[in-house]
Order: sequence, then C-alpha cells, then structure tokens
Amino acid sequence: MRVGYKWNRGIALFNRFPEKVRFLDTTLRDGEQTPGVSLTPDNKLLIARQLDELGVDVIEAGFASVSNGEMEAIKRIVREGLKAEICSCSRGVKSDIDAVIESEADSIHLVIPTSDLHLQYKLKKTREALLGIVEECVQYAKDHGLIVELSAEDATRSDVQFLKQVFATGLSSGADRICICDTVGVLTIERAYKLFSEIRSTFPNNLLSVHCHNDLGLAVANSIVALGAGADQVHATINGLGERAGNASLEEIAVALKTLYNVKTGIKTELLYSTSRLVARLTGIYPQPNKAIVGENAFAHESGIHAHGVLSHPATYEPIPPETVGAVRRVVVGKHAGSHGVKAVLEEMGLKPSQEQLEEIFRQVKELGDKGKRVTDVDLLAIAEQVMGLKSARPILLEEITVVTGNKVTPTASVRLKINGRPVIGTGIGVGPVDAAIIAVKNAISEVEPVILEQYSVKAITGGTDAVVEVFVRLRKGDLTVTSVGVREDIVMASVEAMLNGMNALVTINNKASRNKPDG
Ligand code: MN
Repeated sequence: MRVGYKWNRGIALFNRFPEKVRFLDTTLRDGEQTPGVSLTPDNKLLIARQLDELGVDVIEAGFASVSNGEMEAIKRIVREGLKAEICSCSRGVKSDIDAVIESEADSIHLVIPTSDLHLQYKLKKTREALLGIVEECVQYAKDHGLIVELSAEDATRSDVQFLKQVFATGLSSGADRICICDTVGVLTIERAYKLFSEIRSTFPNNLLSVHCHNDLGLAVANSIVALGAGADQVHATINGLGERAGNASLEEIAVALKTLYNVKTGIKTELLYSTSRLVARLTGIYPQPNKAIVGENAFAHESGIHAHGVLSHPATYEPIPPETVGAVRRVVVGKHAGSHGVKAVLEEMGLKPSQEQLEEIFRQVKELGDKGKRVTDVDLLAIAEQVMGLKSARPILLEEITVVTGNKVTPTASVRLKINGRPVIGTGIGVGPVDAAIIAVKNAISEVEPVILEQYSVKAITGGTDAVVEVFVRLRKGDLTVTSVGVREDIVMASVEAMLNGMNALVTINNKASRNKPDG
C-alpha cells in the first residue's frame, strides 16, 4: 500500500460549500489598519500586483476618503488593469461614497454598523434611521455604477431579525453582495454555523460574504464554518494582518479549503509563501516563526526523531509538502538534532564526513547548543571543516566600508570587497545606515553571487548603548539557504559581518555541492 500525504480526512458535518469559494483580500485596507503599518502608494501597488497573481477575486485596495495618498493608491491600482475587482471601503456617509466614485474603483465595501451598541454609542442613530441610511447609500452608490457589497459591522452582536431587515433593505435598494462581519471576533463555531445557515436560507440567491477577526484565535475556523454553511466569499488578509489580533489569515483558509475540504478556490497556493514575504517586508510586520503555513518554522525540523522521520518520508511530520505553498523544507541543526539530521545538512553542503568525523561534528554541535547558542549553518560548516581537516577558504573578504548618515543626509554606504582576490566596489543608499550597508554589500557581490536576504533580526546581548549586538541573517540562493550571525558592538559592522559570513558559506557550499553532484 502506498502511504504518504493522503489520509482519511473524515466527513464534513456541514457541506454547503459553494462550488468555488471567492476571496476578497483586505490586506491593503483592514490589514493596513494594523497598528504601526502604513503603506505608500508604490508599495500598495506592488502588493496588489502580487495579490492579483495569487488569484484573489477582489482586492480591497484601501479606504478612499482617508487621505490623498490612499486615493492615489487606489487610482493607480485601478489603472493597472488587473484581473481582480478593485474595491474601496466606505462608511455610510455621502462624502465617503463620493471618494470611492472619484477613486474609479469597481466596487464599494459599504460598512454599516447594525448592533445596538454601535448604533447607540457610535452612530447615535435609531434602527429606523439606519434603514434609511442603508437605502440611501446603496442607491447612491448603484446610481454611480459601483458594485456594492453591504457589510453589517458588528453583525455577530446584532439582533438577527434586525440584521435581516438591514440586508433586505440593502438588497431591495440594489446591493450586489451582503456580508456578515464578526468585527470583534466573538463568533463560536456553532454560532457561525447557525447564523450563516439562517442568513443563507433567508437570502438564497444573493452572494454572501464572511468577515472574521481573530481576537480569540477563531477567525480562520469561523470563516471556514461560515463557508461550509453556504457563504460564497471570504474576507481575509495575508499573514492574518489586521487591527488588534488581526483578520482571518488568507493562506490558512486557502490551504485548509484545498487540502482538508477539497473545495475549489482561485488561489495559486504555491505563491503563498512569496506573497507572505513580500507583505512582511513592505509592512515591517513579520509573522511569528510558528505561524501556520508561512512562519519560518512551518516546514523546519530540528529534533532528531522528527528530522529522521522526515528524511525517511516527509509526510511523517508534515501535513502537506512545502512546495504546495512555495516554501522549502529545512532541517535545522541544534541541541535537539540527531545524527541523521546533521548528516543530511552536511550532505546538502556537499560534505561527506566519515562515521568517526560525523560523531565528532555531532558532539561539537550539541556542545554549542548546550551553551545556549543557536547553531547556524556557518557554525556547522566551520566545525565540519575543522573536524574534516578541510581548508576553510573565504572567497569574499571585506577590505573597506564607509557609511554616512545624519540629519538631511540620505544614508549612504560604499564598500570594497575582495572576491577571489579581485577587488569589487559596491554602493548603496537605504532607509538607515544598516540598510545602506547591506545594500552596498549586496550590490558589490550581485554580479558574482546574487543572493536574497530572507531574514534579518537583531538582538542586544548586553544592555546599554554600548551593548554587544548579535545580528542573525538567513540568505538564500536558489534552493540553498544558510543562516549566520555577526556579533559586534557596532550594529552596522555586525550586520555586514553576518552577511559576509553567510555569503562565504553559500559560495563554499555551492562549490562543494556542485562538485559532488554525480553527473554534472
Ligand atoms: Mn474588519
């Protein structure tokens, strides 16, 4: 019998999934409302292109009335001529709708609160008055040619009968879609099922959306249940970005629908990892390492038992192959590693130690781990080279670096390296001195060894402004990734050191690995 990634996934208790689930991505609107995040029009455009490529049906590009930059961003995304429908958010006020019309968006996400709490304390309006607003706003938007998605804000804390009245009013005024928002993330699985089933049966012929927040960690589960109860479209964000604890995470929903429920979506799941990285880089909010699907540890294995299992058959400790989402499997060496894992990583580096050498390398790795050190690939390479008596060549050497920063000065760096004895110069400008220095190093080296900096993090080891800092980086070249650290009192120099250590390891490993390939 063939065993592997296929297993009995059980029977769904709810199975009114639409034939194809639609995705409305709101990374650029609700996601941008993440505290501390604001995207320039240029960066919004980059993300919108990627979302379109990913296959989302609707891109909620922003909130047109918020600022000039927001208006410009939406306009530019509209003019890009993407396949996805481009949408702008709006409150139930005429000036907001006018801004959406001016933005040239295809559709309006009209958000109107329906709970008594919001009506009394936020809008200070009666239920009757609200129905009037719904009618007026939907008609006004429809008169101006917009596709209208009417969202009931705080719907899950609203009187269900009134909620139905709001939707009925909106639909008879011309709304194209209705949406139930779990604005503060209080739905349970059971209530999600009941509420969505009820609204589905009341309005059997209208597109129904679900919009969940993750305050209690249930956003993805509630979204999937809502879809199973008959909702057609799900609102989600990349990396689960959003206010407070965030929105439902697009990548988690897309992968669960595909692999657990066998439901069709337009999402090209193999682009999820790269989309996640782009959004993380441009928003500055990186997913936690143990984040499902896109966290840096989602497909990493350290413990001896797990690494051994995964090396024998990946499905032993992986629910899906990492390629499904465009990620790569990594076996990580450290205190918990077993000899199989260490051997596999060394082989990937093109090193084939004898059994005796392997045992010594293994011992030294454990020793480093026991001292509380994170064992990087560069450490492992250095240990292996020393144990195996190999020449440790460092093809890239730093000769000179200058960094200029200050008030009214664009942070600028120039660097002179020696690559295989040949002098190479690179320059870079960045948002700060570290960024400039790293860009300069990357530029200098790009012709020889173009690499991608996948991860960069800094830790102050001691306190105070004279603290020793440790910079950790992960570099990638094709399928090969290496981790390394730089430790200095100067953060710029620590960063450059980490980069150069990593690049040297990449070049060395690359050379060894290609020499060891059986047929060229
Ligand atoms: Mn929201």
